[in-house]
Amino acid sequence: MRSAVIVGAGPNGLTAAARLAREGWKVSVYEARSTIGGGSRTAELIETGVHHDVCAAVHPAGASSVAFRSLRLEEHGLRWVQPEVPLVHPLGGERAGVLYRSLDDTVAALPGRDGARWRRLMQPLLEDFDYLTGFTQGPLIGVPRNPVAAAQFGLRAVWPATVLRRMFRHDEAQALLGGLAAHSCLPMNRPFTGGLGLMLGLMGHAVGWPVAEGGSQSIVDALASVIRSHDGELHTDHEVMDLRDLPSADAVLLDLAPRQLVAMSGGRLDGWRGRPYRRFRHGWSACKVDYVLSGPMPWTASEARRTATLHLGGPFSEVEQSEAIVQRGGVGARPFVLVAQPTVADPTRAPVGRHTLWAYCHVPNGSPLNVTDRIEAQFDR
Ligand SMILES: Cc1cc2nc3c(=O)[nH]c(=O)nc-3n(C[C@H](O)[C@H](O)[C@H](O)COP(=O)(O)OP(=O)(O)OC[C@H]3O[C@@H](n4cnc5c(N)ncnc54)[C@H](O)[C@@H]3O)c2cc1C
Repeated sequence: MRSAVIVGAGPNGLTAAARLAREGWKVSVYEARSTIGGGSRTAELIETGVHHDVCAAVHPAGASSVAFRSLRLEEHGLRWVQPEVPLVHPLGGERAGVLYRSLDDTVAALPGRDGARWRRLMQPLLEDFDYLTGFTQGPLIGVPRNPVAAAQFGLRAVWPATVLRRMFRHDEAQALLGGLAAHSCLPMNRPFTGGLGLMLGLMGHAVGWPVAEGGSQSIVDALASVIRSHDGELHTDHEVMDLRDLPSADAVLLDLAPRQLVAMSGGRLDGWRGRPYRRFRHGWSACKVDYVLSGPMPWTASEARRTATLHLGGPFSEVEQSEAIVQRGGVGARPFVLVAQPTVADPTRAPVGRHTLWAYCHVPNGSPLNVTDRIEAQFDR
């Protein structure tokens, strides 16, 4: 029997471990913290009985994950819960860019001819969604099995969001695209930022933007259940400091940052071989605030009260400017804010009458800035 050691029990490490375990490998996972899950943990951060997602809360990527689907996580306790509306980007009063699950509803809600343009952008890709998820989630090498669909996606995806937005005339569609593209954690004039926005929008139409019932922890708990059902081992409170301390195995997988690999390589990556790892530049950080609410958030736009995810940042140009400031090392006075309000879709996380909400904005990597006041000022959108 082949064996694998996995360091780090985040969702990616656990997915790799579960896939290998299911293929008959003997897997051992080592996690530094006392609980598994990394950025997919859920915890009672503020009040007993009120469960917050520590990082990831909304899972269009999880719901469309080819790897998750192959592991049949629903048989291990995972249940996706869909809010009525996948995503809302308020623009003042009742105005908002709204991503509905239904392409037709989204098209109908966009002003002028922007609806027809949204359809022209999305429909051909939506028809090939299953192929495209496999294509974009797999290694991007080799000849695509469906070159027409791959080319159709590639020709749209390569554009920066600042170019793709020109397809639209009105704030609603432009802001919707801008907020989606801002998930790239890149300035929006960079290639492929439009593509990421497109893919997230497509996911909204194809699989929704669900939350995991009970919290994102249930995703990693389901992965752990797969691992255990194949006799895999999970060791928590076990920080790996040096790769030489690990038991010998046919494969070692590290769910870690590149510089951590250098630090634990026992000097083997001190020379030129370690240079790419040492030079790796980390992306932006997030300043995140968690809330327990005594009622649902009374957003002005009615659609905003029906979704688990909001993008607060005004029209495209303001979102673009906010992200450009982060790239220059600062945080704007009106930052682009991402909001998750999971209890709108999943009341199991909190006692009756209690609601959870988190909000974050991007900040430069490692920034200690606390910008809670700027985040909260955006709630009035
Ligand atoms: C504020 C915020 C909100 C987010 N929201 C979403 C969202 O809504 N939807 C979404 O899909 N994604 C979201 N993400 C992104 C998501 O959390 C990450 O993509 C995901 O957690 C990455 O998983 P991973 O397994 O690669 O790494 P991680 O989740 O970081 O896991 C790495 C694990 O390795 C462990 N580890 C580190 N060093 C060692 C060591 N030396 N020895 C042993 N163990 C070690 C860590 O403790 C951790 O458990 C969000 C991220 C943030 C920060």
